[in-house]
Amino acid sequence: MENQANTVEIETLIVGASAAGLAVAAGLKQRGRPFVLIEQSDQVAAAWRQHYDRLHLHTSRDLSGLPGLPMPRDYPRYPSRDQVIRYLELYAAHFGLEPVFNQRLVSAERVDGCWHATTQGRRYRSANLVLATGYTRRPNLPEWPGQAGFAGPIIHSSAYRNGRPFAGQDVLVVGFGNSGGEIAVDLFEHGARPAIAVRSPVNVVARETLGIPSLTWNLFLSRLPGNLGDWVAAPLVRVSVGDLTRYGLRKSKIGPIEQIKSQGQVPLIDVGTVKLIKRGQLTVYPGIERFTPEGVVFTDGRAAAFDAVVLATGYRPDLNEFIPDTSGVIGRDGVPAASGRELAPGLYVCGFYISRTGMLREIGIEAKRIAGLIG
Ligand SMILES: Cc1cc2nc3c(=O)[nH]c(=O)nc-3n(C[C@H](O)[C@H](O)[C@H](O)COP(=O)(O)OP(=O)(O)OC[C@H]3O[C@@H](n4cnc5c(N)ncnc54)[C@H](O)[C@@H]3O)c2cc1C
Repeated sequence: MENQANTVEIETLIVGASAAGLAVAAGLKQRGRPFVLIEQSDQVAAAWRQHYDRLHLHTSRDLSGLPGLPMPRDYPRYPSRDQVIRYLELYAAHFGLEPVFNQRLVSAERVDGCWHATTQGRRYRSANLVLATGYTRRPNLPEWPGQAGFAGPIIHSSAYRNGRPFAGQDVLVVGFGNSGGEIAVDLFEHGARPAIAVRSPVNVVARETLGIPSLTWNLFLSRLPGNLGDWVAAPLVRVSVGDLTRYGLRKSKIGPIEQIKSQGQVPLIDVGTVKLIKRGQLTVYPGIERFTPEGVVFTDGRAAAFDAVVLATGYRPDLNEFIPDTSGVIGRDGVPAASGRELAPGLYVCGFYISRTGMLREIGIEAKRIAGLIG
C-alpha cells in the first residue's frame, strides 16, 4: 500500500526477480504472507538473458528446479540458457508472481525497527528485506600494466554473446572457470584460435562420470567426512579427465569438493575444453604479467599476439553498495556473512552461498528456509 509520502508499506520487500527472488516470493505466497517483489529490469530472469548463447546448465535438470515446480520433463538433462529463462517465466506465472519492474534498489537502512529501502523514485518500508540480487551482480575486472595500450578489444565474459565476431582471430580467454572453459570452446567452434590464461592450480571434473552427472556425485561424496569425498573421487577424475599437467595446467593440491568448501570456487566442469587442450587446439598459458600493444606477456616470460581478450574473471555480489559495512553482516568485499538465514533483524539474503551441490539447488533450499522464517 502506498501512502502520501510515496512510501510503500509492506511486510516483506524482496529485491531481484530471478531464481532466488522468485523462489522466496513463491514460498511466501504459499504461506499467504504479503510481499512486494521488485526488479531493476523489465523482465524476470534478467541475468540469464545476458549470458552467452552457448550456455547450458552445468548442473542437471532434476537438481536445478526451484521449490514447487520442477523443470519440465521434456527439457534435456542440461537445459540451455533459453530453457532456463523459459522455466523462470513459467515459475513466475505458475505462482502468480507479479514483480514490480524497473525498480532498482539504491540503498537500504534499518530505522525504528523497520527496513527503509529506496529505489529510483520510490521508498519501501518493510519489516523484512530479502536481497536476491545475485552473486554475479558485478563483473570482476582486474587490471594489468599496459592494458590501456592494447590495440584490440578487451571484454568481460558478461558482455560475450558468441564467437561469431572473432572468427579467424587469435583470442585470449583469461580464467579457467566454467565460463572461461566454455567460451574457449565456443570461440573454437566459431573459427577463432583460442588460448587460455590460467593463473592458479586447477581442478577439472567431467560433466558426467559413468553416466552420472557431477552434481549427483557431489551430493553423495560431499556427505563423506573430511576429505574422504575427494579421495574416493580421485581415481574417477583421473580416468575421466586424465593428467593435464603436461599441457601446462597445474593440478590443485586440494580436491574439487574441498576447493568449493574452502575457497568458494567451483571446479571446471568440462564441456569440451579438455579435448581441445589435448588436441593442441587450445593453448594454455600461465597468468598475465602485462599487456603490450599487440598482445600479452605471461608470467613465465612468454609473449604472444592476440586480436582480442575475453576476461572470464568472475563476478562480485557487491551487497555493500546497498547496505554500508556498518553492521558486520556484509563484508567490505560485498559478500554476506551467511546466506539463506536472518543476517540481521529482518534482513535475509538468498543465493550467496557457493554450494558443492549447485547454486540453483541451494537457492531452493535457502528460499524455503527464508519463507519459513518469515511466515
Ligand atoms: C555463466 C553462468 C552459468 C551458471 N550456471 C549455473 C548452473 O549450471 N547451475 C547452477 O545451479 N547455477 C549456475 N549459475 C549460478 C547462477 O547465477 C544461479 O544459479 C542463479 O541464476 C542465481 O540466481 P539469483 O536469483 O541468485 O541471481 P541472478 O540470476 O543473478 O538474478 C539477480 C536478479 O536481481 C536483479 N537485481 C540486481 N540488482 C538489483 C537492484 N539493485 N535492484 C533490483 N533488482 C536487482 C537482477 O536484475 C536479476 O534479475 C551460473 C551463473 C553464471 C554467471
